[in-house]
This record gives sequence, C-alpha cells and structure tokens, in this order.
Amino acid sequence: MRARIEAACERVGRAPDGVRIVAVTKGRSPDEVRTLLAAGQRTLGENRVQDWRAMADALADSAPRWHLVGHLQRNKVRFCRPFELIHSLDSERLALALEAEGAKHGHVFRTLLQVNVAGEESKHGVTANAAAALLVRLRALEHVTVEGLMTMAPFADDPERARERARPVFRDTRMLAETLGLRELSMGMSGDFEVAVEEGATLVRVGSALFEHDAPGDGGSEA
Ligand SMILES: *Cc1c(COP(=O)(O)O)cnc(C)c1O
Repeated sequence: MRARIEAACERVGRAPDGVRIVAVTKGRSPDEVRTLLAAGQRTLGENRVQDWRAMADALADSAPRWHLVGHLQRNKVRFCRPFELIHSLDSERLALALEAEGAKHGHVFRTLLQVNVAGEESKHGVTANAAAALLVRLRALEHVTVEGLMTMAPFADDPERARERARPVFRDTRMLAETLGLRELSMGMSGDFEVAVEEGATLVRVGSALFEHDAPGDGGSEA
C-alpha cells in the first residue's frame, strides 16, 4: 500500500510523507486488525460509532489512533471524544451538538467538513456553494475545529470508470480546500486512492485493499 502511494506521489511530484493511511476496520475482526497494528499501522477508522466501541475495547491495549469516517448522528456525539479526527462533519446542527458536548468537557473536536461537490442526492455532505458560508460560522465555535475537507467519489460498478469519475470530484475538492484555506484532504478508498493521492489527498481511507488480497484497485492505477 505504501509503495503504491509512493508511486502515485512520484507521478505528480509530491512528498510521500504527506499522505497518511487510515485503515478502515469496518466489518473486520479484532484479530485481522491486530495483524495490521503489528505491521506498524497506527491510524484506524471506523464507520459507525456503535461498531467502533466494540472494536476499540478489543484493541485498547494497542492504543491505536481512531478516526470516525462515517456519518455521525447527533445523539452519538457523547461517545466521540476519543476520536483524534472526525471526517464526517456534514451539517451545522451536528457541529452545534459537538460544540455543546465539547464545552461540557473542555474538549475540542477536530473535524473535517464533508463535502458533496458532485451534488449527489444520496450523499451526506454540504455542497461546494454552501461550504464557505458554513465554514465562517463554524470558525466561531470554540470546541470544534475544521482542519480540512472529506469527500466520497461517485459510485460506479466498473473500476476503471469509477476512477475516471472520481478524478474531477477529487480535483474540485482540492481546489475548494485551497480556496477555503484548509490543509487536510480526506479522499480516496480502496478503488481510487491512487487517483486521490495524485489529486492531493493527505488522508486515504482504505479498507478492503488492506484486508483482502483480491481487493478492488489491486490492478494498480493506469489512469
Ligand atoms: C468503508 C469505508 C471506507 C473504505 O472502503 P474500502 O472500499 O473498503 O476501502 C472509506 N470511507 C468510508 C466512509 C467508509 O465507510
């Protein structure tokens, strides 16, 4: 995985240490994840708070850094202080719930604003047009910081077609982050992380390509 990221960085003249792998443990067993931790992977991501609590308990002795990558419901914010980063801040109401929880405990939640630049109805996230005004309001919060953007590429069955459709979405997201003065970019999953790295990702959220041998994207990126 690191070699593929380094090759993608080299193609566009980026420094490979600017890309961090978030290993998404969704649906895996604690033993599978321990194998990754033993190989030196420190940053883990979970999709749902409920699933994360059991996994975090099972792996507590190895003290991984946890990121939340999936949609967060407001009634779950009370569990979220252990997350180093929440990738999925997708509404002002959620930000206000995090702010209230943070104020109660003297805790600052580090977040990424999830954007839906392709404007897909089925996706969480704010539109590119709404992001700037929302960010101004979020910057007034004392217990929530926004450090970057997160996005999900549009779905396509065919892997090659998926990478083609992902690239402009990743590019638009990077340009939006630059406009907004945000540094972190969480984009790219197993099927398209190399495209994401070429387009500026600083965090890639990878599950199946790490845990499965015949995972999507294992053919490498000829894109
Ligand atoms: C599951 C998931 C991933 C990882 O997906 P893979 O295709 O298995 O790499 C990344 N981000 C989010 C939000 C996920 O839910």
